[in-house]
Amino acid sequence: ARRAALSASTGPGVTADGHTVPLLANIGGPADVPAAVEAGAEGVGLFRTEFLFLDDSENAPSEEKQVAAYRQVLEAFPEGRVVVRVLDAGADKPLDFLTPADEPNPALGVRGLRSLLDHPEVLRTQLAALVKASEGLSVHLEVMAPMVADRADAKAFADACREAGLHAKFGAMVEIPSAALRARSILQEVEFLSLGTNDLAQYTFAADRQVGAVSRLQDPWQPALLDLVALSAEAAKAEGKSCGVCGEAASDPLLASVLTGLGVTSLSMGAASIPYVRAALAKFTLAQCERAAAAARATDSAEEARRAAQAVLSGE
Ligand code: PEP
Ligand code: MG
Repeated sequence: ARRAALSASTGPGVTADGHTVPLLANIGGPADVPAAVEAGAEGVGLFRTEFLFLDDSENAPSEEKQVAAYRQVLEAFPEGRVVVRVLDAGADKPLDFLTPADEPNPALGVRGLRSLLDHPEVLRTQLAALVKASEGLSVHLEVMAPMVADRADAKAFADACREAGLHAKFGAMVEIPSAALRARSILQEVEFLSLGTNDLAQYTFAADRQVGAVSRLQDPWQPALLDLVALSAEAAKAEGKSCGVCGEAASDPLLASVLTGLGVTSLSMGAASIPYVRAALAKFTLAQCERAAAAARATDSAEEARRAAQAVLSGE
């Protein structure tokens, strides 16, 4: 048992029958890299670049400052994968120079990719900094946009990446139900999907993620959320592309197994959760994960979904 525990404490994410699910770290900047490396992350699945912009709400950071920060992160994963999310400002992360001050519903307003398309120079600088930061490195750089609503959004982002001369895969976050419902059309423009389950839950249930009184509806075990994950993963599979999860859902070991059963191809989470998710995945076969996923989706509440998955995976 000790050997098994040890072997599960390092190495890639893999089910009991050898199906690999890369385990990646969510980071907010270079300061989070040591913990990610320590946890054995195979790379970064969500680099939230907002941190660079928070010091000064009036101005974007210079290209040089961005190059230095991105380079530090990219150098830490020489053969790994690093997924950088371009700036996700607005709503819970307002920036004076980007976010309109007079929106009645900021979460439904100009935020995420919408802000960047309104201020293309900010996106151009960020992409140019990523081009420079990745020069000469063998890291697998991927870049994704937050809050993609439809194919036009995905195309606008992909065009900006191409214009910047980025040698990277570019992808779309699935955080809005419309993106999950039409994932195949979005995948005509980008090379991968990453599910942001925090916002996806918020927008699916019309439940503000900052309002504790509606937290019941923010539960990522909600079968409606599992359905949208399944739709996205199936679309990616049909297009021969990948579909990861980088929201909080990925950090729950039992739910991570269910997400794997739904067809998700990588899981990204806070570094502290990686050992627990790795150990959970190692216990179950892909077929068991699939059965747990089907059982969870067959229920009508988060609580029942959790119990149904638990029952399948504990062999009850
Ligand atoms: C999400 O919405 O699930 C996500 C990963 O992005 P953030 O939490 O930064 O909004
Ligand atoms: Mg989000």
